[in-house]
Amino acid sequence: MRRAIYPGSFDPVTNGHLDVIDRARKLFDEVIVAVAYNEQKQPLFPLEERLELLRLTLGAQDGVTIAAMNGLLVDFATANGATAVVRGLRAVSDFEFEFQMALMNRKLEARVETIFLMPKEEYTYLSSRIVKEIARLGGDVQKFVPPRVAEALRQRLNQ
Ligand code: ADP
Repeated sequence: MRRAIYPGSFDPVTNGHLDVIDRARKLFDEVIVAVAYNEQKQPLFPLEERLELLRLTLGAQDGVTIAAMNGLLVDFATANGATAVVRGLRAVSDFEFEFQMALMNRKLEARVETIFLMPKEEYTYLSSRIVKEIARLGGDVQKFVPPRVAEALRQRLNQ
């Protein structure tokens, strides 16, 4: 049983995240999408809503589970019997931070390997942050996020 953790803020989930999940599912028997609390980041959507948007978007898919994650990623991975962490790499700009995280996580727990997946080219410019910015400024985000998420953004930003 090969199990991987795909951690992130998912504030909110975008088509880029979905692309990474799809690719990870092909490599692992189970992918746990782990939504981090990380209140320091001051998310737009509270944890419960980020989880709910993922649930609504992914539905009941074989091999994918959604969970909230608190604390150290490697501890969460070990506790859930996962041997890999999946992260998305969009551009060189992601690399430095991801490289540091991967090596630090390896220092903390050598048995957990980090795997990077590249999204479809059309998603390389996509991030939750930029989607929120566009939505905040009244732009149309339907091409970038699932319909439920576009709706949630409209509601939250009162448009
Ligand atoms: P974080 O707060 O950890 O950056 P995110 O939810 O923004 O969490 O991202 C989680 C993971 O998904 C990260 O590895 C990030 O690089 C990846 N990711 C986000 N958007 C995309 C995208 N458009 N294409 C590929 N990977 C992505």
